[in-house]
Amino acid sequence: MTQKRIAILGAGPSGLAQLRAFEAARAAGVKDLPEIVCYEKQNDIGGMWNYTWRTGLDRNGEPVHGSMYRYLWSNGPKECLEFADYSFDEHFGRPIPSYPPREVLKDYIMGRIDKRAIFNYIRFECPARWVTFDDETKKFTVTVMNHKKGEQEVEEFDYVVVATGHFSTPNMPYYEGLEQFPGRVLHAHDFRDALEFADQDVLLVGGSFSAEDIGTQCHKYGAKSVTISYRSEPLGFEWPEGIEERPLLTRLDGNTAYFKDGSSKQFDAVIMCTGYQFHFPFLPDELRLQTNNCLYPDNLYKGVFFQSNPQLIYLGMQDQYFTFNMFDAQAWYVRDVILGRIQLPSAPERAADIKAWRDRQDALSSPNECIDFQAQYIRDLMQPTDYPDFPIEKQAELLKQWLLDKKENIMTFRDKSYRSTITGTMAARLPKPWLEIKDDSLEGFMSLKFVEVEETADV
Ligand SMILES: Cc1cc2nc3c(=O)[nH]c(=O)nc-3n(C[C@H](O)[C@H](O)[C@H](O)COP(=O)(O)OP(=O)(O)OC[C@H]3O[C@@H](n4cnc5c(N)ncnc54)[C@H](O)[C@@H]3O)c2cc1C
Repeated sequence: MTQKRIAILGAGPSGLAQLRAFEAARAAGVKDLPEIVCYEKQNDIGGMWNYTWRTGLDRNGEPVHGSMYRYLWSNGPKECLEFADYSFDEHFGRPIPSYPPREVLKDYIMGRIDKRAIFNYIRFECPARWVTFDDETKKFTVTVMNHKKGEQEVEEFDYVVVATGHFSTPNMPYYEGLEQFPGRVLHAHDFRDALEFADQDVLLVGGSFSAEDIGTQCHKYGAKSVTISYRSEPLGFEWPEGIEERPLLTRLDGNTAYFKDGSSKQFDAVIMCTGYQFHFPFLPDELRLQTNNCLYPDNLYKGVFFQSNPQLIYLGMQDQYFTFNMFDAQAWYVRDVILGRIQLPSAPERAADIKAWRDRQDALSSPNECIDFQAQYIRDLMQPTDYPDFPIEKQAELLKQWLLDKKENIMTFRDKSYRSTITGTMAARLPKPWLEIKDDSLEGFMSLKFVEVEETADV
């Protein structure tokens, strides 16, 4: 029997989870594993967590993937993304606070990767260009551009795992007057350094995570004012002086913005926090996932197997309350299907299962219900695999508390500490409020004198 071949597109957290799932099987003594090639557009692993100063195109002329910015701190408690098989205690050797900056989280994510083993599978600077499927041979042909060699490579695979992320290609709306606006107009994807907007009046268009985080960050780093313009619902936090919300932007005239309630204000810069597109330019129509950002994309059995061709797999395409441990649960399940440990049901049975989950999704009416839904989805994936069992339901409760903490005070929620659901360790506390800590480097953060949290403390 010929060895099966798998192409993984992308070496971000999702692609790495898939590589690790197979490595875990290898470590457990499983023989005859498929041959894996992982194609990565960037020149390192880590996906979105690789900060880049670049915007626009990378050095190979490819669209820059990164949307993360300087001074980005975890937007949820780290206890909700802790790996079941690699704890924060194991990585850092002592309790750290619940909301670390990007570099610290990246250090943790990379910490469990055995680079020597994993790097063998990855071809860097190799963006996927085109994927086709042959109905007769049941094989994919994957064409990539190998920028290191300066030539295209074409290979055949039995499975393709798409792990290219979905927070990279901006959704950029148009507003009348934008072309005459005298200041900077950019999408959140190209936002890099809040200091650029110090002493400026900044308009953020959009009412979701990006607006919330970029808005608080611009405030933290000295913007004169931050105005968040929402389409349907305000974010509704109790904003500090200097941040306000207004209804939808209707047009701009010079540097004056007009809003739906008839109000207007002058601005120095406009940042579009208007979300991202699911963008798979390397896939033909019949293989391309078409979805909006939701908890259970249509046509994906178990949230991963493409319904009309389950040899095509999508990882991490969900809206994300949970991230790394969800990618792990998906990757372990996918691995077990490929290894024949789990049998995929027939197409009609898969369709019925997708419909049942989507019906449940459509009935969700609150963020708490959404969190429970995603936790149940992860539980459903984990159950039949040997992924170490962990209390996802407890992590869901932490996420609900996180929502309350943000409601209580959007500028101080990162000062809270939570208990690890994996090790039981209580997170330390920051020595001073997050708002006052401007150095987000790994060294800067780890040299802070964290405060141990008393067992009885209110957390
Ligand atoms: C601004 C911002 C802040 C965030 N903050 C948090 C946070 O605090 N906590 C959290 O848990 N999550 C956060 N996230 C979510 C984050 O997206 C996930 O944590 C995670 O990075 C998703 O992993 P992924 O592997 O699915 O996608 P990505 O991390 O996006 O990785 C995809 C990989 O695919 C590669 N790729 C793309 N196209 C191709 C191609 N054609 N061929 C080959 N390779 C390709 C990319 O180069 C990249 O390496 C944040 C996201 C953003 C945008």
